[in-house]
Amino acid sequence: MRLKDRTALITGGGRGIGRAIALAFAREGASVVVVSRTVSEIEQVAREIREECGREAAHFACDVSNADGVARAYDAASGFFGRGADVLVNNAGIAESAPLAQTSGDLWQRHLSINLSGTFYFMRAALPAMVERGWGRIINVASIAGKTGAPYIAAYTASKHGVVGLTRAAALEVATKGVTVNAICPGYVETEMTTRAVERITEKTGRSAEEALEVLRRMSPQNRLVTPEEVSALAVLLASDDARGINGQAINVDGGSVLY
Ligand code: NDP
Repeated sequence: MRLKDRTALITGGGRGIGRAIALAFAREGASVVVVSRTVSEIEQVAREIREECGREAAHFACDVSNADGVARAYDAASGFFGRGADVLVNNAGIAESAPLAQTSGDLWQRHLSINLSGTFYFMRAALPAMVERGWGRIINVASIAGKTGAPYIAAYTASKHGVVGLTRAAALEVATKGVTVNAICPGYVETEMTTRAVERITEKTGRSAEEALEVLRRMSPQNRLVTPEEVSALAVLLASDDARGINGQAINVDGGSVLY
């Protein structure tokens, strides 16, 4: 077991990629705290971890865009673990679309607050204990939109480029402290977020859901969506001791659609 006796906090752990990471970490021996806004979802994931993986798990409701809320959730998680989180996964995120000229201030701010500031708030909370213990892993779930551009997702793209930049800066700051900071950059993944993207394409273009899904599949040279478990497999590796030399990287899981 690669994460035996580790403590891990996963934001957005109630569904999709975050849920897959939470379960994968528990199967590798970690105690897990999941946070998000929808209590029923994180409660269910924590229950699955306890009942199916036999690991300790807790859930705390938290809006990652609220700095005070993040500080409270991190303190609650530390109380549950009896120490800070060894592994922090910043996965909570939203993705909405609009042409740039029709992007409202609210939509713009929502993306920066949740996707970028939320990641920063949790990193700020978690890093001191990691540095003090001389061991830590921060994994930020960015996106290939953190490396390249695409039409109609300016706010999302800007927020995810920010996450990649934040990852790189933090990685260098703690490089000698036994702490690594990396980002994962998935292409389209089989989650509710992608289902909503399909619905938006259907609404805007009149295409059928299957045709819209095919458009997304064809964005990958592998002509398919990524599964949440493919993302969680990389998260387990990055969280493990074996990955101590991987630092400041933004690693794509996208079938080869972005080659840098
Ligand atoms: P989902 O929409 O399925 O899940 C998103 C998770 O984030 C939910 O648990 C949600 O819970 C949580 N979340 C959203 N906003 C907040 C908030 N303000 N505070 C706390 N939690 C929040 O999406 P995915 O699993 O697909 O996405 C996970 C991450 O992966 C995101 O960062 C996304 O940008 C990234 N990603 C996804 C891709 C995809 O194709 N699906 C591709 C590339 C990257 P709740 O709403 O209850 O708070």
